[in-house]
Amino acid sequence: MDINYASIITIGDELLIGQVVDTNSAWMAQELNKIGIPVKHRMAVGDTWDDIWYALDEESKHASIILITGGLGPTSDDITKPLLCKYFGGKLVIDEETLAHVQNIFLSILKRPMLEVNVKQAEVPDVCTVLRNEKGTAPGMLFEKNGKVFISLPGVPHEMKWIMTNVVLPLLPSKFKTTNIEHRTLLTAGIGESFLADLVKEEEAALPSFIKLAYLPNFGMVRLRLTASGDDKALLTESLEKHFVAFKEKVKEFLVIDEDLPIEVVVARLLKEKKATLATAESCTGGYIAHLITSMPGASAYFKGSVVSYDNSIKTNVLHVPESILETVGAVSEETVKIMAESVLEIMDTDYSIAVSGIMGPDGGTPEKPVGTVWIAVAKKGETTTKRFDFRHTRDRNIQLTALNALNMLRITLCG
Ligand code: ATP
Repeated sequence: MDINYASIITIGDELLIGQVVDTNSAWMAQELNKIGIPVKHRMAVGDTWDDIWYALDEESKHASIILITGGLGPTSDDITKPLLCKYFGGKLVIDEETLAHVQNIFLSILKRPMLEVNVKQAEVPDVCTVLRNEKGTAPGMLFEKNGKVFISLPGVPHEMKWIMTNVVLPLLPSKFKTTNIEHRTLLTAGIGESFLADLVKEEEAALPSFIKLAYLPNFGMVRLRLTASGDDKALLTESLEKHFVAFKEKVKEFLVIDEDLPIEVVVARLLKEKKATLATAESCTGGYIAHLITSMPGASAYFKGSVVSYDNSIKTNVLHVPESILETVGAVSEETVKIMAESVLEIMDTDYSIAVSGIMGPDGGTPEKPVGTVWIAVAKKGETTTKRFDFRHTRDRNIQLTALNALNMLRITLCG
């Protein structure tokens, strides 16, 4: 099979020092996959002439489509445009349409005069096709050389996404033969990666060469992904489906969902199906569980509210946790989360509730309750389930693990 690969080059010193996380290439890779263009390499380079030149030379050996983001601005550190001009043997000229667009942004939207440097935004190499950028001043540029295309896009994520979605992704299939790429994902909980691998070893051995298996562990859950690629779409789908069913059957005891979805979406679906409502009482997560739930559109249908009972006085005054419990067994205890969950269930008159209390670190641990000790409770009318966790990671990760495990406990309760 003759595959047309893409390579993504991201440019910027800020990416190399970790000041900015490269989210552009992750998003671009996902979108390219969707239209049947697999990504061969992703490379990040600094704002250095030789490094960018090397990246272009190197990636054009491996891919038919080379996508570049960053370094297009008018400032002196942004050297991508003059470099591309030299690389493809052109000269910089003003693109009248881009100039009119930049002028319009300054006059109508920013309502300030253009600087000389802004006029430079409308300069493009005369050997490129200009890709319009409705979201910003730097246009995208497309170059062709030896049957390969090089596409340079701005680094600002929402500008890059607009040009990709509206111009580049619709254009690529007309220039290159694409392949069929299909993914199927199983989300599992309660089993580690190596045990999971052992469980599915026969199914894995039975996979044909065009289906690849990947394990993606994250926050105590493991995603198992099957990816098939090839020319014959019907054969691909049929075979992938057959193997997917076999994997699903094997892991059914640990299966959260047979789609690539985050746990909060899974829980939201279950709540909607049951027409049930939820409230949270959060100490150590400071409202993070409520944030995850309310990040989804339509959450008002099933989420009523949260009490962020960070201080013990809130646990006592709002959630009715007796002071005697806080003084004896403490705020991070089974007794405390049980009362928190049952109180918020009653106060907010919901069908389900979640309560969490833990020591997130780096300070505050004791020999019996070290950093990472967390109690979680999930309540419904007449029944409360509690569980202790010992995460022992950094503060951020402990908070995320607490939230995801709380949502998973709720999922288990919802599934009966
Ligand atoms: P503009 O012409 O609008 O300045 P540009 O092409 O010059 O765009 P850069 O100066 O390289 O873009 O980056 C602009 C901003 O975009 C950076 O400050 C950074 O926040 C963000 N950015 C750049 N590259 C990436 C990337 N790979 N992933 C995520 N964000 C990025």
